[in-house]
Amino acid sequence: MMKQIYLKRGKEESLLRFHPWIFSGAIHHTDKDVEEGCVVRVVNDKGDFIAVGHYQQGSIAVRVLTFNDVEIDHQFWTSRLHSALQMRIAIGLAPPGDHLNDSPCGAVSPLLKKTNAFRLVHGEGDLLPGLIIDLYGDTAVMQAHSIGMHLARHAIAKALAQVMEGRISNIYYKSETTLPFMEPENGFLLGQTDNNIAIENGLQFYVDWLRGQKTGFFVDQRDNRSLLEKYARGRQVLNMFCYTGGFSFYAMRGGAELVHSVDSSAKAIELTRRNVELNFPNDPRHEAFCEDAFKFLDSLSNTKSSYNLIILDPPAFAKHRGALHNALKGYTRLNQKAFEKIASGGILFTFSCSQVVTKDHFRNAVFTAAALAGRKVRILHQLHQPADHPINIYHPEGEYLKGLVLYVE
Ligand code: SAH
Repeated sequence: MMKQIYLKRGKEESLLRFHPWIFSGAIHHTDKDVEEGCVVRVVNDKGDFIAVGHYQQGSIAVRVLTFNDVEIDHQFWTSRLHSALQMRIAIGLAPPGDHLNDSPCGAVSPLLKKTNAFRLVHGEGDLLPGLIIDLYGDTAVMQAHSIGMHLARHAIAKALAQVMEGRISNIYYKSETTLPFMEPENGFLLGQTDNNIAIENGLQFYVDWLRGQKTGFFVDQRDNRSLLEKYARGRQVLNMFCYTGGFSFYAMRGGAELVHSVDSSAKAIELTRRNVELNFPNDPRHEAFCEDAFKFLDSLSNTKSSYNLIILDPPAFAKHRGALHNALKGYTRLNQKAFEKIASGGILFTFSCSQVVTKDHFRNAVFTAAALAGRKVRILHQLHQPADHPINIYHPEGEYLKGLVLYVE
């Protein structure tokens, strides 16, 4: 029998609109011995069924898995994963047939032949709150953001292997950083491989499953990197917060004159160097600097800096709502420095991946930065997360990545 959670009167309202979170304040009481991460049945004050989800102590007390009164079993996981896969087939990222190069109808999209790294499951966006699965070639990297998903990892891996049969050979589980208090061990749940080179738009990169951030690579910037490539010809590029160098090697392929990559992490800089070498061996155009981004910008001359294509893709400055105000100040400060240094006729790609910072907040912070620097600035593009990071329409909080491409006179 599933344990039950009883809501306070009237607190089911957001759930009737399919919002997938139940906050602790909405709960009247719970059955005895409801354990962290267990599957619970949620009912309203009259005892009517509302939802089934994972329970966890904290402000988000239940993450809803389904609004149907069903068991969370093998059939449930396969059906959710199958639907996630169908969506990636629909957007041309996953092969329709069983094998990467073997489509039954011969209609493999050109992107598919050049990209084997994408997000298969994006939490709430795929009706699986707390679960992330990225694919790198025939390896899936799975990450739990909730205790419920951690406890279900073997069941999910089994369903994933079945749904992805013929497409993946390995499943790597990586939740050490997302569930530190659980101390989950990273490791393979299926297969094992040393081959950690993946392909994005024909460019190769090492994925550091073992120690890298997120699942090892930021797959969410794929489309934005492509756009950058188009603007790179003949430019002097500064890639701030480069991590594994994604934007840098796109800029190089786009014909940049020089590319400088900056990150404060020595490991990131090492990976950037290896990735550039992998795609452009012995190319003298690239140089990487292990330095703090703010200090690096400060050290440039306002008038003599010749960078005319700058990328600012910092880590989330605000991880929760309380940090919003300071985060916005941080975005303003960072962008102001870039506006002060960018050469005339320059193009700035600037991003925020903080979920609590809205598109309008961010635009306002960048607007303030431009005004403080006194530059003439035009918005060329407004960017966001790619289609394999879908937003559940009932969960607007799922929108997290936003960016602006600016022309600075
Ligand atoms: N643009 C990258 C992703 C950036 S992730 C990509 O396309 O893959 C954010 C990066 O910022 C991390 O690599 C982190 O090491 C780096 N970072 C964090 N604080 C920093 C700082 N103060 N100065 C420079 N880099 C920083």
